[in-house]
Amino acid sequence: MIKVLVINSGSSSIKYQLFNMDGEVVLASGVVERIGERHGLHKHRLHRDNDIIESRYEQCVSDHRAGLSRIGTLLRESGAVSELSELCAIGHRVVHGGESFREPSLINSEVLQLIRDRIPLAPLHNPANVMGIEVALQEAPHIPQVAVFDTAFHHSIPAHAYRYALPEWLYTEHSVRRYGFHGTSHRYVAKQAASCLGKPLESLNLITLHLGNGASAAAIAQGQSVDTSMGMTPLEGLIMGSRCGDMDPAIHFYLGRSTGLDYDEIESLLNKESGMKGICGANDMREVHRLADAGEPRARLALDMYCYRIKKYIGAYYAVLGRLDAVVFTGGIGENDAWVREQCCTGLEALGIRLDAEKNAAADRETLDIHRESSSVCLLVIPTNEELEIALQAVSCIN
Ligand code: ADP
Repeated sequence: MIKVLVINSGSSSIKYQLFNMDGEVVLASGVVERIGERHGLHKHRLHRDNDIIESRYEQCVSDHRAGLSRIGTLLRESGAVSELSELCAIGHRVVHGGESFREPSLINSEVLQLIRDRIPLAPLHNPANVMGIEVALQEAPHIPQVAVFDTAFHHSIPAHAYRYALPEWLYTEHSVRRYGFHGTSHRYVAKQAASCLGKPLESLNLITLHLGNGASAAAIAQGQSVDTSMGMTPLEGLIMGSRCGDMDPAIHFYLGRSTGLDYDEIESLLNKESGMKGICGANDMREVHRLADAGEPRARLALDMYCYRIKKYIGAYYAVLGRLDAVVFTGGIGENDAWVREQCCTGLEALGIRLDAEKNAAADRETLDIHRESSSVCLLVIPTNEELEIALQAVSCIN
């Protein structure tokens, strides 16, 4: 068995999945939540044939070291591994790789330092990723560890799309440019779309829509990302659960002057209190629908704004690509929300985008096409699997 552990270390949680890469099956998975709080929670799932046995442990997990050490213990005790030394590799999700990382990288002290150097570009994400790597290196020093970057897939975006219209020194001295995120997911569903369409990825032009709590669109030409909606940070672009997406940058100064909020408060407002939550008070899409169905006008407006923004990006990226083979929906909302998918496609018939309402309503979490036969653009619902993509990239990196 080729066993690979994937670690996604966040500020107060560590998610993990253990794969057997022979057959790409999950052996175990779980999450340690509320790290550093009095009541920590560790959910560990053992995957056996078609069964998943879940165990829950409620106890304080003081820090990331304690969290990773618990994960190691549970993997051993549940029989998923007999020793950590059985692992062929550990793959770490790293949010921001800046311009340095175009590919997954085997972690050594130089790579780790470069990731640390990127912390100012992603202060909300990279510190937790670095912490996860540091602890895993200490816990399992002899196992090859690979950093897989959310930004890497977007390294192919050309300068005319990644540069902002700002003085050049902001780019050369301060690295201000579009990087894009969710690259692991966009790459994974693009590959799946190619196999679903039975064509080589290098021949396909796609728009991939990752619609989860965070959301982003990518324009993919001949298999390579050429533009994406998230920017220097994951705040730009589509409307998200609690992030505003695109807005007039002058609003920041106006807010500072008229409300007295400081930079940190404005950053927090735009990241945590805006998006669907800011418009209607709910950031979970199912709750937004419930409110809208109950006649709450703010929820209705939030849904209209959400889909309108996506539709604008589909139009823009169609123009960028010139020819479009498929639009791919993924992420919790993209995979499950037939209403959102329909709204995003309605009115685009002149572009050759024709949704089949019946197929769309029937779509479940399996890969599915939801276009009419007369549609010149395929419409696909493809469940993302970022953890598997990280494991695949970790294996190809150590090979
Ligand atoms: P994350 O970005 O945290 O990985 P997910 O991809 O799991 O998020 O997506 C979370 C979003 O998916 C939430 O807004 C949730 O409401 C939405 N979602 C999950 N299931 C459904 C569903 N059946 N219908 C509509 N939205 C759903």
